[in-house]
Amino acid sequence: MNNPLSKINSYKKELYKNKEARDYLRTRGFEDIDFLIEEFSVGCCSDSGDFYCGYITFPIFDLDNNPVYMTGRNFKNLEPSHKHIGSSINYFFNHNDIFYEDDLILVEGCLDALSLLYIGLPSIGILGVNNLPENYIDLKDKNIIILFDSDKNEAGRIGAEKIADMLYSTITRSVKIAKIPRHNKDKMDVNMLFSADKTKDKTEFEDKIYRILDNAKEHVFVSRPPTIKKKTHRTYTDNWKNDYDIVKIINDYVSLESEGNLLRGFCPFHNESNSPSFTVYEDTQSFYCWGAGCGVGGTIIDFLILQYDFSFKKALEFLRINY
Ligand SMILES: [Zn+2]
Repeated sequence: MNNPLSKINSYKKELYKNKEARDYLRTRGFEDIDFLIEEFSVGCCSDSGDFYCGYITFPIFDLDNNPVYMTGRNFKNLEPSHKHIGSSINYFFNHNDIFYEDDLILVEGCLDALSLLYIGLPSIGILGVNNLPENYIDLKDKNIIILFDSDKNEAGRIGAEKIADMLYSTITRSVKIAKIPRHNKDKMDVNMLFSADKTKDKTEFEDKIYRILDNAKEHVFVSRPPTIKKKTHRTYTDNWKNDYDIVKIINDYVSLESEGNLLRGFCPFHNESNSPSFTVYEDTQSFYCWGAGCGVGGTIIDFLILQYDFSFKKALEFLRINY
């Protein structure tokens, strides 16, 4: 993708005004389309000659919020129904939210994920049951519920179990499977349930989904564990540690003096005036206060949380904006 961000922005602009694309999304149950544009960078394209002409566009961002993939769903009667660009399907739709959530619902496709996100449920989408992204390792330490479609040939269930098996060996917490019940023996998926609910706030859908999720079953391992490829990609957690220098940032708050290998200053979190106990360790990018009864410590994120009463996410944003 050349200059992907400006492209994504032009697709977003188009969706603000393209009636046909907006009508299509309404048929899929979404009333507040501007929310999809603003929160998830959903867009559309109607420039003839553009690869995505006639498609709704769903960009996928990595953990550092770089666009890495784009998938399109046609809103006219075009073939193919979906189009993708990007190196390979290494990410989930809404992958960049993984970092912030402990509990995630895994569904198939962007529209299913957006249906859940629309009512505030943390969700990520795979692009096809056979396309578990290589970066599923990012789901380590999460509680996952796989929510799959019901269809006649059990493809949904088999796909869900296959994915659960793969996650099972990675995830140290829990993998559950929940199933969307069929409707009059017909196939039913998350977005179909969503669009069937005509209430403004999607309360019927919300009730149904919560009931389905409550009935999720802990996954029992069915096949042999896959070998997990050792990955070299940096995790998000490592990134912020590498990208920001704790000494430089804390110096904006505390005047630090060198004392041998250590940097010391008066603690901003308790009262002290004689000798400084607040210590910053450059090599491990951490701090600790040795003052009696104090004992605050941690990373630069912990420092900002103490200083401003931020959430973890807010502290990261603060770092991004200011340093
Ligand atoms: Zn202290």
